[in-house]
Amino acid sequence: MLLRARHLVPISGPPVEDGAVVVRGEFVEAAGPWADLGSGFTDEEIVDLGDVTLLPGFVNAHCHLDYSTLRHAILPPTSFAEWVGRINALKRTMEPDDYLAAIARGFREFGRWGATTLLNVESFPELMWKMPPPPLRTWWFYELIDVRRVVPTEEIVAGALLFFQEAGAGTREPGIQGSKEGSKTKVQGAGAAFSAEGGWLGGTGLSPHAPYTASPELYRLARDCARHAGMPWTTHLGESRDERAMFVHGQGPLHAFLVGIGRPMNDCGHGRSALGQLTAAGCLGPECIAVHLNDWEEADFALVEPGGALAGMSVVHCPLSHRYFQHPRFPLERLRALEINLCVGTDSAASEGSFSLLDELRAAAAVYPGIEAREWLETITLNPARALGLAGKLGCIRPGAWADLIALPCGDGADGAGKIHAQILSCRQPTVWQMVNGRVTNPGLL
Ligand SMILES: [Zn+2]
Repeated sequence: MLLRARHLVPISGPPVEDGAVVVRGEFVEAAGPWADLGSGFTDEEIVDLGDVTLLPGFVNAHCHLDYSTLRHAILPPTSFAEWVGRINALKRTMEPDDYLAAIARGFREFGRWGATTLLNVESFPELMWKMPPPPLRTWWFYELIDVRRVVPTEEIVAGALLFFQEAGAGTREPGIQGSKEGSKTKVQGAGAAFSAEGGWLGGTGLSPHAPYTASPELYRLARDCARHAGMPWTTHLGESRDERAMFVHGQGPLHAFLVGIGRPMNDCGHGRSALGQLTAAGCLGPECIAVHLNDWEEADFALVEPGGALAGMSVVHCPLSHRYFQHPRFPLERLRALEINLCVGTDSAASEGSFSLLDELRAAAAVYPGIEAREWLETITLNPARALGLAGKLGCIRPGAWADLIALPCGDGADGAGKIHAQILSCRQPTVWQMVNGRVTNPGLL
């Protein structure tokens, strides 16, 4: 298939006016000016998308599909601990069908607003058995919690791996971080319920929930298993003032809440952040996709400096969720200087995250006005692809990349370098055309 569009913005290279993309099967075969490609692929079906901007589908580095129906369900809390209590109460009122409806809604909305890949933390992986193959490329991060140590930590991690093994998951994409051609992940099973053959695109991963709900042992096991299996892993870290008060000072509302539910608290009150503590205990690694990290102890920055234990780590900022909770200022300028792999995610609708990653970027750009639009767009394309170990295959338009493409109705008057990125960033309309894995998924819209 030969696609033509007024603007082609590959993100991985400079924008092209009157651009063309050749799609062969699931992949991009060529991309460049129409003048170069239009005459060389005369046997192809030509789809002229017209006066639009064609760009890679967005990669949402952090979301919770489970809570897609909980927008405005929780009043702005006075503390993070209060919100945790409220969402736990809400979750107790929801049935499996409610979650399935929420997940379906999330896919619809994220797709409509330009995401073609999601990194989703799944609290109820058993629901995956009841779902049709998702319409978007999705990494399912199995959420792991051992807050009360009721079930031994090893059994929790073993249960997650067994779950993926029984589903035959984890074998679907070679090339995931750490795995090499011919040595696909070891969590292979007889079944293929969530496999590419079954129409499931993406992969699986592990997610120790957060340092206040997951023990250091759980972190270490999850990290080791993810490395062994060639899976990505992600976790919430350093999100709130309450989390800091709990770990650094052994006090505050989150501390009190967790004492109340029986969490052992001997890891709190030693003057060290959760990031510092987990790193010292050998539980983290630079491959970790760390979500939030709003609140840093000064000593923590040395960990992510070039040469530090966590150098090059991926950090996911969720701007609207951040604003909703009024978290401490995310130290974006400092992290940029330290060459962190900065990604942007939406978090969940329950904390007022948007389904539109461009909404999230606009919220961030308002706080950090000095950063160029092109760099913001990289945080929802190239950077999360790198976080997954899939640079060059995902979040870009170049030969060999998956053909995950979107068209936005913007670009008028953007002729000239630099302006097109700003126009994309300010586009408030949904996608008019979408392709996932080489297949057009909304042909009727354009
Ligand atoms: Zn989250």
